[in-house]
Amino acid sequence: MSKFWSKVVHTLTPYIPGEQPKLNNLIKLNTNENPYGPSSKVINVIKQFSDDTLRLYPDPNSEALKKMIADYFKVNINNIFVGNGSDEVLAIAFQALLKHDRPILFPDITYSFYPAYCKLYEIDFKIIPLNESFEIALEGYLAPNGGVIFPNPNAPTGIPLPLNQIEKFLKKNNDSLLIVDEAYVDFGTESAVHLTQKYYNLLVTHSFSKSRALAGLRLGYAIGHQDLIEALIRVKDSFNSYPIDRLALVAGIESFKDDLYFKNICQKVIATKLKFVNELASLNFLVLPSGANFVFAKHLSKDGKLIVSELREHGIVVRRFDKPVRISSYIRFTIGSDDEMDTLLKTLKLILSA
Ligand SMILES: *Cc1c(COP(=O)(O)O)cnc(C)c1O
Repeated sequence: MSKFWSKVVHTLTPYIPGEQPKLNNLIKLNTNENPYGPSSKVINVIKQFSDDTLRLYPDPNSEALKKMIADYFKVNINNIFVGNGSDEVLAIAFQALLKHDRPILFPDITYSFYPAYCKLYEIDFKIIPLNESFEIALEGYLAPNGGVIFPNPNAPTGIPLPLNQIEKFLKKNNDSLLIVDEAYVDFGTESAVHLTQKYYNLLVTHSFSKSRALAGLRLGYAIGHQDLIEALIRVKDSFNSYPIDRLALVAGIESFKDDLYFKNICQKVIATKLKFVNELASLNFLVLPSGANFVFAKHLSKDGKLIVSELREHGIVVRRFDKPVRISSYIRFTIGSDDEMDTLLKTLKLILSA
């Protein structure tokens, strides 16, 4: 603490990301990274563009990347906003679109960056508990509000919300904005992107970090009505003219061009997940339904905290959340390669039989 701190700094509760261990030989299943690397075509353009032009600033508007994304989703370029990771896109959206007199609403169990942004921007919020099955129950979000945000599928539960429920909600809640954070949507959840063409009160955010295997590059985007996008651009241009560097720009475009590779690795992760879920269930875990590249599960007799620390001793890193209490015995397992999941299952069997 120091007398030089701005007042708001004293009130912040920063988000704590999952550990990035310094040890190399660990099996890392704690931050939902993709076990498959990015497409080799993506790596090649990064190499190809690593040259003297790096002395020049990138395009401040990232036009070529926005055009690529717009064409891919069959929307207008004015419907696209890009940022340095979807966390940055979300941070800008909180500031640009969610700061009103009324509190914003999000689930009690969700991405813990949302309350962190609220503290940072001094946005009032109210949490709406998930139902007993850990599902988002949208009836609870109809009270007057300054906006609503949730991930679909939700994190860290992984549970997807059907699109018809989201559409019904958009009609009823037409006086305030809904942001759907689709960071994990490509792993088996229906996307709401096309609804942005019909509902001006919907903004959808996507990440390159999970399904596009580019967490290290920092790219994300939002899709929505051009008036919403304009608000995001105004905040961005009051903050950082160049959030997307030259290499991220070409790599992001290439990732969309190599759609076959993208679809292939998503399918592989989904197939591995289906096998893993069955195996976990046979080991006496209660597994929540997952539309993501991770599963959230609790063992019916052994303590989750103990399992996590014993896995760590065997070189496997997974994630658990102390709070809220009703999820503290659950473990979040990122879906890795088939080999990694086999090792995880063998180790779990060992730990559980001891
Ligand atoms: C990972 C994640 C993000 C952020 O991803 P970026 O790496 O910043 O693109 C956003 N929302 C949720 C729910 C996530 O899990």
